[in-house]
Amino acid sequence: MQAMKNALFAAATAALATLAPTHAFAEAHEDAEAPKWSIAIHGGAGTLSPDNMTPERRAQYEAALQEALDAGAQILADGGTAMEAIQAAIIPMEDNPLFNAGRGAVFTWEGENELDASIMDGRDRSAGAVTGVTTVRNPILLADRVRTDSPHVFLMGEGAEQFALERGFDVTGPEWFATEARRQSLERMKAEEMSALDVDHKFGTVGAVALDQDGNLAAGTSTGGMTGKRWGRIGDAPVVGAGTYADNRSCAVSATGWGEYFIRVGVAQEICTRLRMLQPPPPEVIAMRINEIGEVLEDDEGANEMFELIMSENAKIPQQIADGVMAEVKELGGDGGIILVTPEGNALYSFNTTGMYRGRATSDGVNEVAIFGGDVEAEASDTPDH
Ligand code: ASP
Repeated sequence: MQAMKNALFAAATAALATLAPTHAFAEAHEDAEAPKWSIAIHGGAGTLSPDNMTPERRAQYEAALQEALDAGAQILADGGTAMEAIQAAIIPMEDNPLFNAGRGAVFTWEGENELDASIMDGRDRSAGAVTGVTTVRNPILLADRVRTDSPHVFLMGEGAEQFALERGFDVTGPEWFATEARRQSLERMKAEEMSALDVDHKFGTVGAVALDQDGNLAAGTSTGGMTGKRWGRIGDAPVVGAGTYADNRSCAVSATGWGEYFIRVGVAQEICTRLRMLQPPPPEVIAMRINEIGEVLEDDEGANEMFELIMSENAKIPQQIADGVMAEVKELGGDGGIILVTPEGNALYSFNTTGMYRGRATSDGVNEVAIFGGDVEAEASDTPDH
């Protein structure tokens, strides 16, 4: 789609140049851009501050985020697909006990690790999801297998595990997932009658969203849910539309936070739908209209400025929409954050917690990981210019 857009833009501007060969504005916009790629990842949001994290701990998280980001970015830079890139980014985070997904997942009230994951391909909106899985090391891979190799979208518990066995997945015992730190969180929660939020102060779900060089989008999310979850509680992470959504026509989103609120708002799909409905005209159409105005006013320079201004205002729309949906989550009493990529190659975050483990990389040379609010220049309310 990006390639097509680039071609259209080139064609439109070339046509303009033919109509008015000396027209400076048309000539200035003749160059088609190279195909873009971008990726954003998260490892959970929450009450995170430099004051309650040792430098060693911070370095561990940053290294883990960088490893995941690099794995996904490399695939995209080499021309791989967005679907491959998000899985390559999520797997190391599922395997890393620092995050609440796969190994290191939080414990249920009954003292087990029950894993949830979902994945979606923006090309055709095919999706796969699993919930309550206890034996599969990388639930994101199982979710993808549900997507590609079953007639269904969403499998639960024993059925999902039977499906995994039939598809040749390696299974493991509960000891692979269980960590002492997470067990202590559960014990503290029970002893002090705390809520999952009090005990953790953060969500540790992992996720990735990507745009590949062919203009395809993908999103995936994986989690252990919330500490002390009971009665078969399912959060937003495996719910397509709440924790994960991808549609080539709008964006790809992965969420982390207080799942009940994300389900109620339908966060991931809500962001994508608003973006699809509020899509500004493509740049070549804007260029054509402004060119007409420039001719009437005989002011090429003014036309150029107007074009740049409109394009920069339009580039802010995805961030504004994401912030707007996250504000709704907050109004209802929830918190958390999202990562998002657009078909134009924007890689954005929006969160209403004090921090979010996150990272992003793009073909324009952006490559950063961050934890706390204000860690990087382009923060939740700013729009990066890539
Ligand atoms: N969203 C997840 C859930 O509610 C928790 C998290 O983001 O860590 O299950």
